[in-house]
Amino acid sequence: MKRLALAAFLASALPAAAQPHNVIIFVADGLRYGSVTPDIAPTMSRIKSEGVDFANSHAIYPTLTTANASAIATGHYLGDTGDYANVLYTGFPLVALQGSNVPFLENDAVLQEMKAHFADGYMGPLPLLCAAQRAGFSAAAIGKVGPAAIQMIDCLSGAIEIDDVTAKAKNADGSASGAITLDPDISKAIQAATGAASAPATELPNRPQQNWFVAATDMALLPAFQAKGKPFALLFWSRDPDATQHAQADSLGSLTPGINGPTAKAAIANADSDLAAILDTLKKLGLDKTTDVFVTADHGFSTIAKAVPDAKGDLPPAHFPQGFVAIDVSIWLGAKLFDPDAGYQELDLASGDHPARGNGIIGASADAPMAVVAANGGTDFIYTPGADGRAHAKAIFERLLDAPYVGALFVNDELLKGDGAKDFAGALPMSALRLIGAANVPEPSIVIGFRSFEAKGCTLGAELCAVEIADTSLQTGQGMHGSPSRADTRNFMAAIGPDFKAKFTDNAPVGNADIAPTLAHILGIDLGANNPSAGVLTGRVIAEALAGGKKVTVSRKVLSALPAKNGVKTVLDEQLVGRAAYFDAAGIPGRVVGVKDK
Ligand SMILES: [Zn+2]
Repeated sequence: MKRLALAAFLASALPAAAQPHNVIIFVADGLRYGSVTPDIAPTMSRIKSEGVDFANSHAIYPTLTTANASAIATGHYLGDTGDYANVLYTGFPLVALQGSNVPFLENDAVLQEMKAHFADGYMGPLPLLCAAQRAGFSAAAIGKVGPAAIQMIDCLSGAIEIDDVTAKAKNADGSASGAITLDPDISKAIQAATGAASAPATELPNRPQQNWFVAATDMALLPAFQAKGKPFALLFWSRDPDATQHAQADSLGSLTPGINGPTAKAAIANADSDLAAILDTLKKLGLDKTTDVFVTADHGFSTIAKAVPDAKGDLPPAHFPQGFVAIDVSIWLGAKLFDPDAGYQELDLASGDHPARGNGIIGASADAPMAVVAANGGTDFIYTPGADGRAHAKAIFERLLDAPYVGALFVNDELLKGDGAKDFAGALPMSALRLIGAANVPEPSIVIGFRSFEAKGCTLGAELCAVEIADTSLQTGQGMHGSPSRADTRNFMAAIGPDFKAKFTDNAPVGNADIAPTLAHILGIDLGANNPSAGVLTGRVIAEALAGGKKVTVSRKVLSALPAKNGVKTVLDEQLVGRAAYFDAAGIPGRVVGVKDK
């Protein structure tokens, strides 16, 4: 056998894990599957057609950023990560937030305080990037503050974790940022590459900031990894199109074009050109043939409505102020409302006060809550701590059954014991959403997914035309996510590289919890199969999309709640591959986009 042929034979005979391949996860925050078109997003479109097109993609519900970041990081569902939403009730006051116990998690100081407080009860499963680092590979997370740090939450000390607050001791509001101190050589390389030690402020579209992240990646991180000669795992989190889709004002007060207008398109193009620049650098450095690139989005997106449309599909004037759930719960329980984001100040509803961020503590005093509302855009959580928690949950639930903004209702499995199935008829158990697992962060009693519908006159199909009620300061016509509609669960996903099939459309369901197991398989590293205390709610290796991989068996399931007296019942449409579950949509039939009434 000739020398060259022998080498080729040996190379092809080696198992995939023995080859020094690298992985990049590129997250385009809030990118909808249907919004990726060749004119706006040529690079992502090319990856879809030349690599693997995940045509049956899924975000994890609630369709929120840090929740999906925790699933992308670890390959576990939210019951195991404890990162159930962007805003949680923690039951303890956070120093990083002047004592609030309802933190917004996109904050490095908050994330580190959560980890220190709950230890393995929050983000217990080992993140892929930390597993890669432990295995001696190079690893880095770069991009949007919050979801970037979650990728390395177990190994932040000395990690290459770069985000909005890198080299800034303070957040914009003056609080401590919790920025990770970078290795001086990496800092110097970034400064040389970008001309600045820290990222510029965010803009719409977020070009200057993301250009800084891209330059740091292309001119500092990737060359350093190449020089080291070890395999690497890198995650890049693009804030666009999310931030721009939220804040765009292309049709303030009206539903079209909403998030399908020119400003949102410019943000998609921004994320796409960032990905293009990183792929170009891989090529220049000779890393393109040995690097797998997995592109995903944490969640889909919808246009906001602050009112429920009438029978003709027309929208009455806006009447859901920020914090409408907290306000309603306070009225229903006949108790005071305190704002955890304003020093627990008591709000005067009669004079039109509403919670600064939608969150509320309801009770006789702020330190003995009957109920706590954590506002999360398209979904709100209601907690009922305290001895009478069950009675408070029941009283709130009965009113929610008649609330026009409700799209889907889930209750904690604890409440369903005994007479619970009758008392909470209309709701599905939270465990059906894989929200109950190994984590020990306080669990909500009730999860409300808000109502959604298709914008009248929109012709782009149900997913792109979706509009949702949202608990937010943003207005009708702007953008939000978090709901259990197919519009919000339908994220963009595609992959390309030596370990993936080429020109392959994967019609099997895949989701954000599958990325870490799949890439760990490619890298040949252990994600903690030997650590059962991290929980068993895991995604799967997407074998059918890997070179030589076989088709998987898919089943479909519809879970239906016992109907309440008024007929309200929540339905959950899901697909299953083995133990991995994929939620298409959930809700009361007719009230949530994508829910099929069987
Ligand atoms: Zn968002």
